[in-house]
Amino acid sequence: MSMKNRLEQQNSFLFHFQTFNEIKDSLYGTFGVAAYTILYYSGIGAGHRAYERRAAKTKTKEETLDLLAKDKINDNWGEITFQDLDFTKLSGRILVKNCFEARAAKSKQQICYFVKGYLTGFISGLMQKPVLLDEVKCFAKGDDHCEFTIAPDRS
Ligand SMILES: [Zn+2]
Repeated sequence: MSMKNRLEQQNSFLFHFQTFNEIKDSLYGTFGVAAYTILYYSGIGAGHRAYERRAAKTKTKEETLDLLAKDKINDNWGEITFQDLDFTKLSGRILVKNCFEARAAKSKQQICYFVKGYLTGFISGLMQKPVLLDEVKCFAKGDDHCEFTIAPDRS
C-alpha cells in the first residue's frame, strides 16, 4: 500500500519532528508553561481513544499493549515497551526509545508532555482507573530513551 493510501485509510497525515517542535515552541512562547498542560491534555484525549480503538480489536490487555507498541513503531512514534505493569497497584514503567517528541529537541529537563498525556490516557483506559505518569528519563536531555513511571491518581 502506498504511503498516501495508508495515511488516508488512517485519517492521518505526516508531520516532521521539527514542525511538532515549532508548534510546541510557539505554544510555549504564547502561553508559557501552560503550553505543556495543553499538550498533556491533548495527549490524554488521543490516548484514551487509542485505547478504546485497540481494546475493541483485541481480547486481552497484553494483546492491547502489543498492538499499541506495534502500531507506534509503524507510525514512527518510537519503540514502546512496558515493564512490570501491575493492574492492582496501578504501577509499572513505560520505556520509549526514539520518542518522536524528543528526537528534534534539546532540553535540560524532560519534555515529552504530549506523549506523557497519550500514555496516561491509554494506561488509564487499560487499567480502568485513573493513573498519573512521571517522565523520569528523556532522550531530549541526553538519556538513552524516555521513561515514564506509573502511579495511581489519588486526586
Ligand atoms: Zn522524553
